[in-house]
Amino acid sequence: MKEAMESYEAVIVGGGPAGSTTAYRLATAGVKTLVLDRAHFPREKPCGGGVTLRGAKQLPFSIDPVVETTASAIDFRLQYGAESRHAYDAPIVLMTRRSRLDAYLLEKAAEAGAEVRQGARVRELRPDLSRPEAIGDGFRVKADVILGADGANGVCAAAIGSARSQWDALAYEGNADRALYSSPRYENSMLFEVGTVPGGYAWIFPKGDHTNFGVGGWFREGPQMKAHLARLCGSHGVDVDRLSGVRGYRIPLRGPDTQVFLGRFALIGDAAGLADPLSGDGMYEAFTSGRLASENALRILGGHDRDFSRYRAALRAELGRHSAISWLAKLILERRPRAGYRIATSKIAGRLFYGDVSGTRSVRLPLPAPAAGSLQRLAQTRLLPA
Ligand SMILES: Cc1cc2nc3c(=O)[nH]c(=O)nc-3n(C[C@H](O)[C@H](O)[C@H](O)COP(=O)(O)OP(=O)(O)OC[C@H]3O[C@@H](n4cnc5c(N)ncnc54)[C@H](O)[C@@H]3O)c2cc1C
Repeated sequence: MKEAMESYEAVIVGGGPAGSTTAYRLATAGVKTLVLDRAHFPREKPCGGGVTLRGAKQLPFSIDPVVETTASAIDFRLQYGAESRHAYDAPIVLMTRRSRLDAYLLEKAAEAGAEVRQGARVRELRPDLSRPEAIGDGFRVKADVILGADGANGVCAAAIGSARSQWDALAYEGNADRALYSSPRYENSMLFEVGTVPGGYAWIFPKGDHTNFGVGGWFREGPQMKAHLARLCGSHGVDVDRLSGVRGYRIPLRGPDTQVFLGRFALIGDAAGLADPLSGDGMYEAFTSGRLASENALRILGGHDRDFSRYRAALRAELGRHSAISWLAKLILERRPRAGYRIATSKIAGRLFYGDVSGTRSVRLPLPAPAAGSLQRLAQTRLLPA
C-alpha cells in the first residue's frame, strides 16, 4: 500500500549538528518543521568532539551542559619528534562527546517546536519539484523547502550529483580511559602530530575522564589507518588494541564549484562537503551553513526568494576565503612538512590560530572571493595523486 503524502513547510533530513540547529532556528521562527533521522538518539558519530569557540558562537544557545572539558593550548609535534606549544589565557575549544552533544542539540530543536522523527531513514529525494519530496521506509513527505543534513554517507548529496570527491578525507579514532593514559601535559591542550599521515595528521584531545586518540588523512589512506593510529598510540606508550570505541568515518571535502542546492532543496554541513580541509573540523561549518540556509529558507517561505541561490552566495562569502587559505596551508604541510611545522609554530601563527579558533578574528585569504576560489582550485589540483 502506498503511504499517504505528508506536508510540512520545512523538512530536514538528518538530525546531526547541521540539521538539529537548523531545525531549531526554523521552528523558533514559527515554521512547521520536521526532522527525519535514521538513528535513535543518543547515537555515536565518529568525531573528536572539539567544538571551537567560533563554532559555539554560531549557536543561539549555550552548549555548556554537554562540555566535558576545555582546551586552552595547541601543541604541535613534527613527525613524533620536535614539539612546540601555543598557550592561551582562555579556552579556545570546548571538548564534547558527540553522543551527548548531538542528543542535546536535537532536544533543543524539539523544545523549539520541531517534530523529530527518529529511526526514519530517507531512501530517496526528489529535489527538482516545486515542492521537493523525501521518501523513506513507510513515509512520504513533501515540503516547501528541504535541507539535506544527512552527513558524509547520506543520500542527499547524491540526489543533486555532489556525492564523492577525489579530495575526501577519512578519520579514524578511539578512546583511552584514565587507567590506560593520562598526561598532565595534555590535560587542557590539543596535540597535533603533523607530517605523520598523508593528507592529514594525528591528534590527541583531552575529554575529562578519557583521552581521544585519532588520525585523519586522504580517504585512500584507509587501509593504513589502523597502522597510523597504532603509531600515534605507540609514541605515547598506549597499546592501540586497548582503545575503546575505535571507528572511522569519511569527511567529504569538496571544491568551490560543488553544487549545494537545486531549487528549494539545499545541502548543509558534511552533506555539502564543508569541513575544513586542514583541520577536518566540520561543526563550525555545520552550524554556519545551517544558519545561512535557514535565513534563505525563511525568505523562500515568506515569498521573497524563489530558491536557495542566496544561500550558495552567502556560503561562498562566509566560508570561501577561509576554505581557500586552508587548502593552501594543507598544500604546504603536505609537500613541505618541516616548513609547515615552522610556520604553524611561529608566534604570528599562534596569534592567528587564537583569533580564528576563538572566533574573534577569522583567518581569510585577503583576496576577492573569485580569486580565492581560483587559488583553492590550484591547491586542490596540486594535491591530487600523481
Ligand atoms: C574521526 C573524526 C573526527 C572529527 N573531529 C572533529 C572535531 O573534533 N571537531 C569538529 O568540528 N569536527 C570534527 N569532525 C567532523 C564532524 O564530525 C562533522 O563535520 C560533523 O559531524 C558534521 O555534522 P553534520 O550534521 O553535517 O553530519 P552528521 O553529524 O554526520 O549527522 C548526519 C545525521 O544524518 C543522519 N542520516 C544519515 N543518513 C540518513 C538518511 N538516509 N536518512 C535520515 N537520516 C540520515 C545520521 O544518522 C546523522 O544523525 C570529525 C570527523 C571525523 C570522521
